[in-house]
Parts: sequence; structure tokens; C-alpha cells
Amino acid sequence: MFIISSKMMLKKAQQEGYAVPAFNIHNLETLQVVVETAAELRSPLIVSGTPGTFSYAGIDNIVAIAGVLAKNWNHPLAVHLDHHENATDIEEKVATGIRSVMIDASHLPFADNIALVKQVTDYCHRYDASVEAELGRLGGQEDDLIVDGKDVLYTHPEQAREFVSKTGIDSLAVAIGTAHGLYTAAPKLDFERLEEIRQCVDVPLVLHGASGLPTQDIKRAISLGICKVNVATELKIAFSEALKDYLNNHRDASDPRHYMVPAKAAMKEVVRKVIVDCGCEGKI
Ligand SMILES: [Zn+2]
Repeated sequence: MFIISSKMMLKKAQQEGYAVPAFNIHNLETLQVVVETAAELRSPLIVSGTPGTFSYAGIDNIVAIAGVLAKNWNHPLAVHLDHHENATDIEEKVATGIRSVMIDASHLPFADNIALVKQVTDYCHRYDASVEAELGRLGGQEDDLIVDGKDVLYTHPEQAREFVSKTGIDSLAVAIGTAHGLYTAAPKLDFERLEEIRQCVDVPLVLHGASGLPTQDIKRAISLGICKVNVATELKIAFSEALKDYLNNHRDASDPRHYMVPAKAAMKEVVRKVIVDCGCEGKI
């Protein structure tokens, strides 16, 4: 089994005080880069895709490629459903072999969020798939998910306690001041709130919107209970900037085996930096 649940990965991270990176991938090249780099650094790895990514690349294609890469590198990994909102969609994807799920019902009222998350969690646990859910709302944009500043809600610690105990989730995504996308100004994270949440719940905590966060913020968040760090935008930018650069300087380029090389190298540097920031190098 090379595609595994993220449950034990996050539990180990929680016990040993580091975080597991979840990298959003989009195609063959980005999968190659994250698996290769994580294997070289012996880092635990979660490969994430939004609903948009799976419909672009094809769920079976992603599962097959991730499985073959994991086997060839002898490096078991979790393929993770990032920000999935639909129970039927999740059930169909779990049937393809995926064992790590985020059900994002954070846009619903509290009681409805609990009800949908519990339904999905009960289903997923029958297949040993781990479940992450979000309480509070992050601002910014991730694919088709756009949250206006006025709709941003920080996670309430006491509500988090009730949410975790009523749903049975394996990990909790918290809203403490990060946002999806790139920051125009450095965000001010609410570390006090994170500490309070940590005291109220015992499951591993997840930080979304980590692209562009200063290293010291990531390290502090990990010291206060963050066990999974999500990075999407920073990878996309490194990849596409290097690709644009190469094509601008090589107007006749037409061979993806050549023009993808610098893009992959640029992305690899970001992956390496995130792994080091997460403190998870050498953890498997
Ligand atoms: Zn997210």
C-alpha cells in the first residue's frame, strides 16, 4: 500500500513536534517534483488536490501516477482531497483508493457544518480514510473558492471543542489570520487563539494559507500545535514564473521535456524550503 491515510502521519507529527507539508499538485510534473523531493529528504508527504484539480487532471490519473511514484521511490504518501464540499463526490473519490479527506462545510451554519462533517466522517472511517474539517473561515481565493474579507471568521476555541467531539474528525483546520493566495502585507496571526484551541481539542491542527508566511510564523504555529501546513500558491508561482522566463528567453522552444525543466527546478526549491520549515526532514 503506497497511498495511505494521513492519520498516523499527523499523529506522529503531533507527538514529535513537527508538521507534515501538504502540497497542492496539478499535473505530472508537479507530482514528480513533490514526491522526488520528499523522498530525497525523507519527509512525510501529503499530496493535495482541490475539486478543480481532480476534474482537470482526472482522479484516476492522479491516483495512478501518485501510486507509481510512491512505489518507485519506496515512499508511501497520502493523496488528499483539499476543500471538498460534496459528500457524494468524496465517497466516489474514496472508492478510487484515496484515504485522506477534507470536508469543508465551513460556509454552513455551525449545526449544519457538524451534521455534514459527521456524515462524511462516519463514511470515511469505514474505509480507514482520515478526515479534516474546518471551523471558522479563511479569506482569500483557492481555485473556485473565494471568501470576501467581510466573511472571514476566526475559529472559536470552545466551539472547536464541541465540533471535534460531535463530528469525530481526525484533524481540525483553524482560521487564525492566514488567507489563501499570496499576501500583499504580512498577516498577523492570532497565536493566543491557537494556544486556546490547542487546549480545547486534542486532534492535530491544520494551517491553511501558508504560502508566503515568514519562517518564524510557521515555526511558532508548529510549536503551538499545527501538524499540517498547506502550501499551494507559492508552488504555482515558482513553477509558472520559471516557465515564463524560459519561454521568453527561448522563443522557439516547443519541447516540454526542455521547457518544463527549469520550472520543476524552481518548484523543487520551494518544496525543499517548506520541508525544512516544517521540521519534518528525516522523519521517515
Ligand atoms: Zn485551504
